[in-house]
Amino acid sequence: VTLIDGRPLAAAIREQAAADVAALAGQGVTPKLATVVATDDPATAWYVRSIAKAAEQVGISMGEVTLGGAAPDVTGALDDLSGHHHDVHGIICLTPLPGGLTLAEAGEHVAPAKDVDGANPSSLGRLAAGLPAFAPATAQAVVEILRHHGTPLSGAEAVVVGRSTVVGKPLALLLLAEHATVTICHSRTRDLAAVTGRADVLVAAVGNPHLIGRGHVKEGAVVIDVGTNETGDGGLVGDVDTGAVEPVAGGVTPVPGGVGPVTTAVLLRNVVTAARSAAGRDR
Ligand code: NAP
Repeated sequence: VTLIDGRPLAAAIREQAAADVAALAGQGVTPKLATVVATDDPATAWYVRSIAKAAEQVGISMGEVTLGGAAPDVTGALDDLSGHHHDVHGIICLTPLPGGLTLAEAGEHVAPAKDVDGANPSSLGRLAAGLPAFAPATAQAVVEILRHHGTPLSGAEAVVVGRSTVVGKPLALLLLAEHATVTICHSRTRDLAAVTGRADVLVAAVGNPHLIGRGHVKEGAVVIDVGTNETGDGGLVGDVDTGAVEPVAGGVTPVPGGVGPVTTAVLLRNVVTAARSAAGRDR
């Protein structure tokens, strides 16, 4: 079985992005990503730091907006970055959000041209309609990994476990666009193992440590583990019991080191794409 390492692919995507940043510098443009954070969750801070570190390598500048207080105005900050900050090319809004605000509600305040993590529901709608749009970076990362690994998708049985607006749903649309036969499972799915057992490509995006075991996987299937679950001792495990699945699977992504680094790289590539489009419009 192959452990599908995401890090070399992430490095290749970052390298291409860095070359594109250098080309944009010639036009006097420095791509800039703004992050909006309204939580003191350490996992969120860790994610923003890892993005900032990768952005620095690529030559993307960061604008970090931290909101505190009793009633942080998240949508106001997003409106401001969307409408007024012409030096900002990409915006991401980090979760968890305060005051019961959902990411889809917040996403409506991210201008589609700057929506590098596909948070605006209109981006999801455009994706469904087959129009150009930024997909959520995680969903896009899964497709990039499958392509890079050479996994045939046309006509393949693809099963996505998880139906969230940020991962499962957009991923199903992307796999459909690749001509896979797509099934989405969720918490009400009656016999999960029976459905996942049909998959040539199985993606777990649940947030339940080791939910997917040997009995869920068809011989030779390619298994992509999106889940990130903290172990309590500072470690991270996925939704897939990698040790149990490895003997049967044709390939499986590790956690950490699989989908995560590719997600960050795709996000940065989207910022460069947004900056290039903005530069084109200004000319
Ligand atoms: P989410 O919004 O909590 O959605 C989880 C989905 O899993 C829901 O659709 C839920 O079904 C389904 N589910 C829960 N228990 C299940 C079960 N026993 N059997 C089948 N389906 C079940 O989570 P998310 O935001 O999509 O994230 C999923 C995981 O990916 C999390 O671990 C998250 O940390 C991770 N993640 C990783 C990255 C990355 O870049 N690596 C990025 C984003 C998220 P219902 O809809 O019926 O409740």
